[in-house]
Amino acid sequence: MTVVRFAPSPTGRLHVGNARTALVTWLHGRKRAGTCILRFDDTDTNRSSEAYVDAIRDDLAWLGLDWDQEQRQSARVDRYADTIERLKSSGRIYPCYESEEELALKRASLLSRGLPPLYDRAALSLSASERQAFEAEGRSPHWRFRLEPTPIAWTDLVRGPISFSGADLSDPVVIREDGSPLYHICSVIDDIDMGVTDVVRGEDHVSNTATHIQMFEALDAPIPRFAHLALLSAADGQGLSKRGGSMSLGDLRDDEGIEPAALRSLLARIGTSDPVEPVEDIDALVATFDFARFGRATARFDIAELLRINARIVHGMSFERARDGLIAAGLPEADEAFWAAVRPNISRIKEAGEWWAIAKEPIEPVIEDEEFAHAAAELLPPEPWTAQTWAQWTGAIKEATGRKGKSLFMPLRMALTGRQHGPELAELLVLIGRDRTLDRLSGRRA
Ligand code: GLU
Repeated sequence: MTVVRFAPSPTGRLHVGNARTALVTWLHGRKRAGTCILRFDDTDTNRSSEAYVDAIRDDLAWLGLDWDQEQRQSARVDRYADTIERLKSSGRIYPCYESEEELALKRASLLSRGLPPLYDRAALSLSASERQAFEAEGRSPHWRFRLEPTPIAWTDLVRGPISFSGADLSDPVVIREDGSPLYHICSVIDDIDMGVTDVVRGEDHVSNTATHIQMFEALDAPIPRFAHLALLSAADGQGLSKRGGSMSLGDLRDDEGIEPAALRSLLARIGTSDPVEPVEDIDALVATFDFARFGRATARFDIAELLRINARIVHGMSFERARDGLIAAGLPEADEAFWAAVRPNISRIKEAGEWWAIAKEPIEPVIEDEEFAHAAAELLPPEPWTAQTWAQWTGAIKEATGRKGKSLFMPLRMALTGRQHGPELAELLVLIGRDRTLDRLSGRRA
């Protein structure tokens, strides 16, 4: 049985990179008919907020991802304390008294000698009386997990065989000076308790994983499989920063008018060997999901590509699916005929508003040849109108005036819409209706 988890820290809105991790985690879990857990990594109480927890839940729901369980690290602090006590008493977690400044100096000194900035484990050799002296000075310790200097290896579902040596890594800090546990140890304890079998996260966690593997071992727990997704970069070469905010899901949805299906289609495929194509149905993405398709190279996220996919999703979208978006765009009266007429001409649902205004609200018609417009008005068939009315009408105009092709259609388009391009006039004409058409042909704002 596969168990996966997506573990956001509620310290900001979800950005495109997080959303990709969430989607891929979820697709893998669903493909294997497993359990999908949403876990909020909210032990950093200064930076986490309830508002972000809600926003992340909403963004994930908007993306179409549902979860079998929701967990909160903040609700599990007692659970962590037990395990931490065990690790402390076995000496696997040890107290350190260096201040931030002292650690920064040590790092700078190593770097200046061209050495990796590894923690020197000075605290490990402190005698009991040296510790007491620090405590007497009023220092409280932070705690590190002691890594064994042994090889650490795993076969990553995305990156293939990976190996580290414990000797090349810094002992990770797992408890803050105020006694609160940090991400690394909480995450490992959670993954054990929740039976997580497959950990999917960004490539930035690869070296963390090496240290986590030793924690799993120290706790006699089975080691999950790992999948580290290559990072995303923006098409302009900038990384996708979480706090930059410009690529948050909220912005994509509210400002850019992106459909969840479009974002899913792109995020499920970028960085894979499969082409990006619009896939409306999330189950179809589940069916084709396979880690073997993912590459190790940084994947490029291009907003222009997302907009192209969005347009294709909109062009194929049924009225039923578009309805909520039309209401959100302030078009509660938009009906199926309107949607069918405009959807090929828009790339986001909210652009339908422009065509609604042209069909139903006063516009300035453009009349270049009054005589022609007058002749066309005279030939306008009586209502009720159907999809055939346009052909009937323009057939009659052609016969009466001898005009055809562009010289026939363009003046009519300009008179009826005030623009050179737009949806099929056969459909638009019916939406505009006879009274307004007559007004517009006579050059009146209508
Ligand atoms: N909260 C961590 C993050 O957002 C989770 C990483 C993980 O999946 O373990 O990076």
